[in-house]
This record gives sequence, C-alpha cells and structure tokens, in this order.
Amino acid sequence: SHVSIMDISFINTTKDKLLNEHLYPKLNNGEKCFIVTANPEIVIKTKEKPNYKKIVQSADIVVPDGVGIVIASKHKKQPIHKRIPGFDLMLDLLYYANEEQLSVYFLGAQDDINEKAVKEVKKRFPNVKIAGYHHGFFKGLEAEIAKEVQNANADLVFVALGSPQQEQWIYNNINQFSKGLFMGVGGSFDVLSG
Ligand code: UDP
Repeated sequence: SHVSIMDISFINTTKDKLLNEHLYPKLNNGEKCFIVTANPEIVIKTKEKPNYKKIVQSADIVVPDGVGIVIASKHKKQPIHKRIPGFDLMLDLLYYANEEQLSVYFLGAQDDINEKAVKEVKKRFPNVKIAGYHHGFFKGLEAEIAKEVQNANADLVFVALGSPQQEQWIYNNINQFSKGLFMGVGGSFDVLSG
C-alpha cells in the first residue's frame, strides 16, 4: 500500500518486503527502476521546487527515510510503521548483488571518498562486479559522465550527489538506459568509506 504525504506517494511496507517483493524481482528481470529515499528535508524541497516535486513523483518507488515521515503519517488511515534508512537499503542491495554477482556503478562523493567506498565494497562484497565509479564533481563534463555510466551497463547505479542533484541526475539520464536500479544515496559513500 501507499501513503501520500504532501503529494508524495510513499510505499508503506517493511524493508524486507520492499526488497523481496519489489526490488529483487526487478533486479532479476532487469527491470528499470528509480528509487527515491525521501526524508523530511526532501519532502520540504518538493514543496519549494515544483520541478523537483515532478521528479520525485516520477520515481517508481519512494521510500520513507526518516522518523519525520513516520510521524507525518500518524494521522493517516494506514500509518507508516517504521522508517527505511537509505543506507540500510543500499547495504542490503549490496549483499544481494554479492550473492547474485550483479554489477554496480558508484557515482558521486569526493574523489578519495568515492575510491575508498569502492575499496570497501570490494573488501566486504567480493563477488559484486564493479561496473565503474566516478566522483561527483564533474561540472562541465555532464555528458561524458552520463555516457560512461551508460556504457558500464550496471545492474545497480548508486548516485551520491546529495539532494536534489542526485534525483535530478537520475531523472535526466534514466531514459538512456535499458536496465538498472537507480537510487540516490546522499552521504552513504562517506559513511561506507569510514
Ligand atoms: N556531492 C557530490 N557532488 C556535488 C555535491 C555533493 O558528489 O556536487 C556529494 C558529497 O561529497 C556527499 C554527498 O554528495 O558525498 C552529499 O551528501 P549529503 O549528506 O550532503 O546529502 P544529503 O543526503 O544530505 O542529500
């Protein structure tokens, strides 16, 4: 089921069901998917920026990432029970990618952080295929970077450019891909890199 908060339709389920019923099947089928993990800051930005709202509304799945979203749903008919942290979702997807030997592209964060995060993934998830990686400061090189990510043809694309840039990037580029699960992951590479 879904719960609408300020015109954003959040999926109302557990992390395990989200993974088992939605994300793993999409990955198995090579089905394209745009996931937004939305915290209250993101919801507020959609109110301030109509174009950003349109982008978030275009996502296939909007995940409630933050207790603020859970609290905002309290008066709804079917309240959201628990937040689903974007970082946890990314880790679970990496575990699955490791099991299934899927390929992953890592776009975003500072150069050294990006490299350290990829190194950490190689260590913790040795069967993940690193489709490619690039830092998130590429002003003037947008087309080249988009092309590189396209050519990598990854099963999963994690985009760590912060909001709203990461959702904007996915929205701008997803049509050029034939497959891939795309998710904005904010500061997750910084966390992953230690
Ligand atoms: N970032 C980037 N390119 C930019 C701006 C930011 O790659 O042009 C990265 C930044 O280095 C950090 C992440 O995006 O790794 C943003 O994390 P933050 O926690 O600020 O994002 P939020 O989750 O708050 O949206």
